Amino acid sequence: MTLLAIESSCDDTGAAVFRDGQLLSNVVAGQAVHAQYGGVVPELASRAHQQHLLPVVTAALRQAGVDKKELSAVAVTQGPGLLGSLLVGHLFAKGLALALGVPLLTVNHMRAHVLAHFIRDPKPDFPFLCLTVSGGHTQLVRVLGALDMDILGQTIDDAAGEAFDKTAKLLGLPYPGGPRLDKLAQTGNPLRFSFPEGALEGFNFSFSGLKTAVLYFLKKQTATNPAFIEENLADLCASIQHTIVQTLLKQLKRAVQATGLRQVALAGGVAANSGLRRGLQELAKTEEWEVFIPDFEFCTDNAAMVGQSALFQYAAGDFASQLASPDPRLKLA
Ligand code: ATP
Ligand code: FE
Repeated sequence: MTLLAIESSCDDTGAAVFRDGQLLSNVVAGQAVHAQYGGVVPELASRAHQQHLLPVVTAALRQAGVDKKELSAVAVTQGPGLLGSLLVGHLFAKGLALALGVPLLTVNHMRAHVLAHFIRDPKPDFPFLCLTVSGGHTQLVRVLGALDMDILGQTIDDAAGEAFDKTAKLLGLPYPGGPRLDKLAQTGNPLRFSFPEGALEGFNFSFSGLKTAVLYFLKKQTATNPAFIEENLADLCASIQHTIVQTLLKQLKRAVQATGLRQVALAGGVAANSGLRRGLQELAKTEEWEVFIPDFEFCTDNAAMVGQSALFQYAAGDFASQLASPDPRLKLA
């Protein structure tokens, strides 16, 4: 079985090829155009997908050594995401599947982030807990099976990645600020400044208060010392990162206690954060959890995770029809 998977939910255009369950290629084209606006501009994202999709698919097939006539199925992200971006991938995938006369599979992007753990070893066993922390989502998921997941808790406002990006922006760091804030935090004191945590009752999160607290704190400090941010940048980054990481770990610990599940997986782009990785590894040692973190290329948006999800769906006979359409607000469960 040879599968082509396509991802275009936000600002990364991805294509991946699998043969008999093995990943042969995984190509992603990012979009630098958004940096100057400090965030993703939906219309520009759709246009960039239009430009990137054919070259990315062609590169993925070439790297895999696969001709399009050999494909047995085509998979594509159905949602959640930006409608214009999703449409580009969706229409391409539908057209290709129709032309080749092969089945189409539509994939939930957030399920795909979780199933990225099954692309390479080591893989968790079902059931396990997964904390998906990305640019648009923060979800604590109980994964009962590949196609059977429920959300224990999620953010009620900003996502963890958004909290990183928005506070980084307040510090004057260019978009996307998450990775830059992480780097600067490495030489800072995480306990120098204290900001409000975002762990709500139960398993939900709220990160918008952190952004506001940082904004007012910086306003107050720079009123008397205009160089405050510059002089304290590393400590500010480390303290913000510490707050976000502690919030995430607190809810994770609660979820482990409530479910008894001791296999804990991390997914989404924020899984790259060094503070989160370190904090989780340390907690895992004292709490005796088994931790799973995929390679970075499978954490941020990519088509390999979409293909992996589609492989599970293919085995379950979960195919889509040509009437399928993207769903920007598609739910996980
Ligand atoms: P969604 O899946 O919710 O639609 P997305 O797929 O666009 O969102 P990802 O690509 O999974 O999001 O992750 C991007 C996010 O990860 C950005 O907010 C980015 O700042 C953040 N991020 C990446 N690396 C780091 C890091 N080292 N530290 C903190 N945040 C990071
Ligand atoms: Fe994503």
